[in-house]
Amino acid sequence: MALREIRELGDPILEKACREVKEVTPRIRELITDMLETMYEANGVGLAAPQVGVLRRICVVDVGDENIHDGEPFILINPVIIEQSGSQTGEEGCLSLPGKAGKVTRPEKVKIRAFDENMEEYEAEAEGLLARAFCHELDHLDGHMYTEIVEGPIHDVEHEEENDEENGEETDEEE
Ligand code: ZN
Repeated sequence: MALREIRELGDPILEKACREVKEVTPRIRELITDMLETMYEANGVGLAAPQVGVLRRICVVDVGDENIHDGEPFILINPVIIEQSGSQTGEEGCLSLPGKAGKVTRPEKVKIRAFDENMEEYEAEAEGLLARAFCHELDHLDGHMYTEIVEGPIHDVEHEEENDEENGEETDEEE
């Protein structure tokens, strides 16, 4: 296990499309383990392989909800969105643009199909934050960042949201 360097916006590798994974080799397994470790260390909810400099169609996602996927991270190999509905507009950040966030509209619900670390195919339904995370990470696999679709300015984020009441601010989202 090892932490990997997270590539930041401006690195050309983040603009490239990734290749499909045909087989989970020991090297890919190690990559997945490192991606999880790197994501957790950076307090992220998702990470895509190109963000650590590897152009393969692999993401990891963990929104930190014990009720989702038994609290286990999602390992997504060759993921595709097969259904989507609704829309949500909210703040989104990216480990490749640390300390920043901006308003992005995504589907409210998505259904994805992917392979796990044993190359077993599975489907998962997601809504809210998890749906947003899936869309965000899948975009990375085609070389896209949220900065391309952000609505309005990208701003600095406060380190901790101290005051729960301030969440009321979210009501000015345009749905
Ligand atoms: Zn990102």
